[in-house]
Amino acid sequence: MRVVVAGGAGFLGSHLCDALLARGDRVVSVDNFVTGRPANIAHVAEHPDFESVEVDVVDAGALTDALDGEIDAVMNLASAASPKDYYALPIETLDVGSLGTRNLLEVSRRHGARFFMASTSEVYGDPLEHPQPETYWGHVNPIGQRSMYDEAKRFSEALTMAYHRTHGLDVRIVRIFNTYGPRMQPDDGRVVSNFIVQALRGEPLTVFGDGRQTRSFCYVADEVRGLLALLDGDQTGPINIGNPGEFTMLELADLVIELTGSASPIVHRDLPQDDPKQRQPDITLARTHLGWEPEIVLREGLALTIPYFAAELGLD
Ligand code: NAD
Ligand code: UDP
Repeated sequence: MRVVVAGGAGFLGSHLCDALLARGDRVVSVDNFVTGRPANIAHVAEHPDFESVEVDVVDAGALTDALDGEIDAVMNLASAASPKDYYALPIETLDVGSLGTRNLLEVSRRHGARFFMASTSEVYGDPLEHPQPETYWGHVNPIGQRSMYDEAKRFSEALTMAYHRTHGLDVRIVRIFNTYGPRMQPDDGRVVSNFIVQALRGEPLTVFGDGRQTRSFCYVADEVRGLLALLDGDQTGPINIGNPGEFTMLELADLVIELTGSASPIVHRDLPQDDPKQRQPDITLARTHLGWEPEIVLREGLALTIPYFAAELGLD
């Protein structure tokens, strides 16, 4: 297959490019590097089956000009994903989730390509149902501090289904739950990066609120395997892909301190507005229809991730 990966220079997108290349697909990464890094794809820059184009997917003309030839699938991972990033880029985030998704859907339609939408557990908002199955409609503040991201992704899902129903476009929608691993940016503000960087530097770990809120963390290799299973399978989705292992932020902080051997203390900071109190994927659909489930538990995944951050900080 020849696959366009929008957001291919990001954390998840670059691992996805690697996995596609490893199985023999040709890959075109489309990225404007707003939150991604050329370094994430530097190791495949000379790969004969890899191309990288620098383009903003919101710019329909530039996107069309940048893409030619046969395209079998378009995978849309383009969007700021860390709260710190989307707070700083509210209008860009709404643009990429609306105009950007629409432009990529049009590319799919013109090329007769399968369209794959990377959505998020954030469509469930601060969930009142726990764990979250795909049938849960969510509890999102449409004007809150996180709304530029949550509503952009909800709109992307709706637009994807509208193309599917109106044009018969072959589509897939994944709802990705918190994913971590090498190539996260040390300063992206997400909890895993913050805690590991703080622990390695011997600085206090900043727990927001009382730290009893939960997340369920999936190691990037498991996540990418799930994305490919959905791409290749016959399920439209949405399908949750995440690791059901659920941890409080205090448990995560303790684990990071243990695994880094750090002497860092824990300090508490204000909880951001609308921060979800709990999050855990129900992955029954993924298990049943895709034969997928995660294999790497948090302790193991953190042990694989800490050396990457140590190298990034020059502490290895
Ligand atoms: P990331 O910020 O590392 O990657 C996003 C990539 O999209 C970056 O390379 C960025 O430069 C690119 N991008 C953003 N706007 C663009 C635009 N207008 N045109 C072209 N490229 C653009 O984030 P990530 O964690 O790798 O997330 C990738 C995708 O997965 C995002 O769509 C995100 O919403 C989704 N997701 C991620 C997680 C997670 O835990 N990492 C969870 C849920 C959903
Ligand atoms: N968080 C924290 N300390 C930090 C960064 C985040 O306690 O330094 C908390 C945050 O409030 C949230 C959880 O960790 O409850 C996950 O945050 P992240 O930004 O990684 O992802 P998301 O909120 O999008 O799930």
